[in-house]
Amino acid sequence: MSGTAQIGVTGLAVMGRNLARNFARNGFAVALHNRTASKTHALVEEFGEEGVFVPADTAREFVAALERPRRLVIMVKAGDPTDAVIQEFAPLLEEGDVIIDGGNAHFADTRRREKELRERGIHFVGVGISGGEEGALHGPSIMPGGSKESYASLGPLLERIAAKAPDGTPTVAHIGPDGAGHFVKMVHNGIEYADMQLIAEAYHLLRAVAGYSPAKIAETFRTWNTGRLDSYLIEITAEVLAHTDAETGKPFVDVVVDQAEQKGTGRWTVQIALDLGVPVSGIAEAVFARSLSGHAALRDVSRTLPGPAATALSEEEAARFADQVEQALYASKIVSYTQGFHQIQAGSEEYGWDIDLGSVAAIWRAGCIIRAAFLDRIRGAYDAQRDLPSLLADKQFAEEIGAAQDDWREVIATAVRQGVPTPGFAAALSYYDALRAERLPAALTQGQRDFFGAHTYRRTDREGSFHTLWGGDR
Ligand code: NAP
Repeated sequence: MSGTAQIGVTGLAVMGRNLARNFARNGFAVALHNRTASKTHALVEEFGEEGVFVPADTAREFVAALERPRRLVIMVKAGDPTDAVIQEFAPLLEEGDVIIDGGNAHFADTRRREKELRERGIHFVGVGISGGEEGALHGPSIMPGGSKESYASLGPLLERIAAKAPDGTPTVAHIGPDGAGHFVKMVHNGIEYADMQLIAEAYHLLRAVAGYSPAKIAETFRTWNTGRLDSYLIEITAEVLAHTDAETGKPFVDVVVDQAEQKGTGRWTVQIALDLGVPVSGIAEAVFARSLSGHAALRDVSRTLPGPAATALSEEEAARFADQVEQALYASKIVSYTQGFHQIQAGSEEYGWDIDLGSVAAIWRAGCIIRAAFLDRIRGAYDAQRDLPSLLADKQFAEEIGAAQDDWREVIATAVRQGVPTPGFAAALSYYDALRAERLPAALTQGQRDFFGAHTYRRTDREGSFHTLWGGDR
């Protein structure tokens, strides 16, 4: 027997609850289930008027409430709980049914689960969902993996609940088979880490070098947000900086402990980049910067280490410096996205996903944390050349980064002179300079490797592998 609900959501914590409401508000009948049944009933009691909800206390009732082929979304804690829920539901499902995992799963787990369920005739779709709880309710950016066939059944529903880009298109697209969606969501989060770190460095420089107050920096960011840096993260940064702590009357940012936490998707991005051999140095520096900030004891014993004397800037110099920081931030941002898209390209090749990078940029234009005007430009670059080898190979990005480079260097040089850490800006510039270099010292590295380990080297003037018989007693 089959029911009438077009979609079901199991796991009704903040994300599942809001996603279920989003489906209902868009006219879909939604079956509801949660391990602790009281949450299911609380949702219906509070929001029952928003649409058609079919509450179910047991897994069996939940499955029976769904029309066939069944589409059920799992929104539980990522990791073992997801496997436990799959084990509970899979025996109740039939061939052609679709299980959707909207949690922040590791793409390797998604690949494993997809394979296991495919063998039982069940579609498993790992879906990256970005935008936090607000996005889940009002329209997230959605990155579904899984089979094309499952997308045919699921796509129309996701298109209705997704955010809409400025041109009105929904921010969802079938990314590719098995774990492709969760992989792309992982890199999205890695880029988010880099974006946040670069903005934090810009703030630090404006504060420490230009001598700006948090309120003045908020104003500066608001101005930047009307230009090419227009993005959600710049917008909310201005809000955070303009906020005053009600208890003390101090700028809010000054009463927050300066130790950044992380949940792990940034770390995954870097771990996988290392496995794939993709240099995502900007993302890595962002992950390390958070980690360094948390080493309170290490920072305590290091506070008395000597640094340079601070130099005060005149008002005019400070304003000029702020403009240069905008250039450095924009150039470094281009590099972060270049690295992130390189990683998606490498993942796509490694796993045979055939990901369309232009459509990834397109669905990040709204609903997600890194949404920005800039992404429309990236989409344009990949639409113009689908096999673009790197974002820096795009003529317009190359011109822009070239135009920013003098100021970018000046900002980093100033930061070094004044002892202000800028790991993100500096890593981005090193990446740019390394790619530009006619010759890299990697030739010397090869010589060293051949000397101590007979690892061989290739020559510039002929094909083949060579080893030099190095002299001395070894
Ligand atoms: P969460 O705190 O990650 O998980 C709580 C939910 O998981 C509850 O419904 C809980 O049921 C259920 N659960 C935990 N262990 C279970 C088990 N062994 N068996 C069955 N159910 C179990 O909730 P969330 O913050 O809403 O996130 C849900 C998923 O979305 C996570 O994978 C998260 O990473 C992902 N996500 C979150 C965000 C965000 O901004 N929060 C954004 C994107 C994606 P009970 O009520 O019975 O405890």
